[in-house]
Amino acid sequence: MIAGAGPAGLTAALELLRRSNITPIVFEADTQVGGISKTVNYRGNRMDLGGHRFFSKSEWVMRWWQDILPVAEGQTQRPDTLRVHYQGQSSEVTLEGPGPASSDAVMLVRQRLSRIFYRRRFFDYPLTLNVGTLKNLGLLESLRIGLSYGHAHLNSRSPEINLEDFLINRFGVRLYRTFFKTYTEKVWGVPCNEISAEWGVQRIKGLSVAKAVVHALASKFRNSADAFQKQTETSLIERFLYPKLGPGQMWEEVARRVCAGGGRIHLGHRIVGIEHDGIAVTAVTVLDEATRLQRRVSCDFLVSTMPVQDLIALLRPADSQVQRIADDLPYRDFMTAGLLLRQMSPSTDHRDVRRFNGMPPDNWIYIQEPDVKIGRLQVFNNWSPALVADPATIWLGLEYFCRQGDELWSMDKGQFIDFAATELEKIGLISRRDVIDGTLVRVPKAYPAYFGAYDEFGTIRAYLDQISNLYPVGRNGMHRYNNQDHSMLTANIAVNSMINGGSGKSGIWRVNADGEYHEEAAAREPRQMPRATAKM
Ligand SMILES: Cc1cc2nc3c(=O)[nH]c(=O)nc-3n(C[C@H](O)[C@H](O)[C@H](O)COP(=O)(O)OP(=O)(O)OC[C@H]3O[C@@H](n4cnc5c(N)ncnc54)[C@H](O)[C@@H]3O)c2cc1C
Repeated sequence: MIAGAGPAGLTAALELLRRSNITPIVFEADTQVGGISKTVNYRGNRMDLGGHRFFSKSEWVMRWWQDILPVAEGQTQRPDTLRVHYQGQSSEVTLEGPGPASSDAVMLVRQRLSRIFYRRRFFDYPLTLNVGTLKNLGLLESLRIGLSYGHAHLNSRSPEINLEDFLINRFGVRLYRTFFKTYTEKVWGVPCNEISAEWGVQRIKGLSVAKAVVHALASKFRNSADAFQKQTETSLIERFLYPKLGPGQMWEEVARRVCAGGGRIHLGHRIVGIEHDGIAVTAVTVLDEATRLQRRVSCDFLVSTMPVQDLIALLRPADSQVQRIADDLPYRDFMTAGLLLRQMSPSTDHRDVRRFNGMPPDNWIYIQEPDVKIGRLQVFNNWSPALVADPATIWLGLEYFCRQGDELWSMDKGQFIDFAATELEKIGLISRRDVIDGTLVRVPKAYPAYFGAYDEFGTIRAYLDQISNLYPVGRNGMHRYNNQDHSMLTANIAVNSMINGGSGKSGIWRVNADGEYHEEAAAREPRQMPRATAKM
């Protein structure tokens, strides 16, 4: 029995069919598959909830994806293979699928471009100390940032208790306020001085303003041809794979194969009860969301990708401590407005490259402007042209981090679309006159957060570990910042364990134990070019 037809649940289902004689039965509360990685189709325009890059340092995952959707040929000069680099990792992909013009059932190789929008200007992302950045900031502000950095260096805050201390010690107050504070607080909805410094230690590794300055100065004296060569080296260009019709296409095809292989997927069916004796799960109660009828289904194993909070509520543990911690687990919710436009506003920055209709070349843009609530802007045309019904239009995703029940969450669809369009107009990216259509998608529990009760998660894990045939996997299923690949790997370990009579189950918790995350910026040891970034 599998709760949830997201990447983790569907990977478990397909792997069970491929490698065992266990027949998977999947119950999915939503009316479509894919979980957070689904594609929402709005009048022929497809939305990706977040912008899902398909890249993994696990070769098993890379091959698995390509087996489901081959990479389309004809995307490079070299016809057969391409080494794809992303966030310091690389993988060889084989371009053996049909060309994207002749088939939909393919993945594209996309080049990453994402920038920061701040002070109504674009900055490199990850933030680089180069002439463009200094010009955008202006001489006076650059000087202030330099002085503030020097001051922080000479008067470092000790001990470093919170994230604010951590960031100010490394970047100075001014740079911290400019590029870290607003965005981090938008994402998490908590002031940086209420987030532990440990968060920074884990996620903002290997940054050094000093190294960045030395690099910036050194590059001034470097032969420009050599510098250009370095810039264009393929290893510096980040690429990822992307299904032609968005991330959900991957999971729709996996679901098709699960059903073709004899597995069963029940959409619109929510698991609302779990029977167990403290050692093993014996049955679940399933609610058909359409008819409101409930039924009891017995099971040998339960793979759960539902939020840990919900799972614990259904298990009703005798120990009230476990229930309390689960109830208090924090989450961040997410809303994205799809906006269809005739054109975007022309740029006022002469260094900025825009298409004829004002569309920027970015896949996504981090909005650091403190006077608006929008956190990120997706340009779906640049993920895959096939996401857009009419190629003459621009299809955007305006992303907001929020909390269920807060002011943003409580707006109705029309209000929200209007609000989001007004924000984009305010920062000069569009004119509302050019908006043709819009929609809204709410994603509850998009981000399992590592605050508050999460410190006590060990108690929950110990309780779950006692139930031998229960496998909590995936992202919310484990309350971990798992990307699709991590979610798939946990599902695969669960399958191995089921096949091997329950052994090796604890391996699930070793996947992504360092919390590495695509969505957050690549703040890692600099390879060739020191860069300053906060995880986003
Ligand atoms: C903004 C954003 C950007 C992201 N970007 C990337 C990226 O670039 N690359 C990447 O690889 N990953 C990315 N991710 C992460 C990716 O979306 C998740 O890792 C992945 O979807 C998790 O898969 P899952 O199966 O564990 O969980 P989910 O996708 O959450 O699926 C769980 C499923 O369980 C169902 N369910 C819940 N409760 C019940 C119940 N009681 N009964 C039945 N069904 C239930 C839900 O409806 C859902 O369909 C991003 C996530 C977000 C929020």
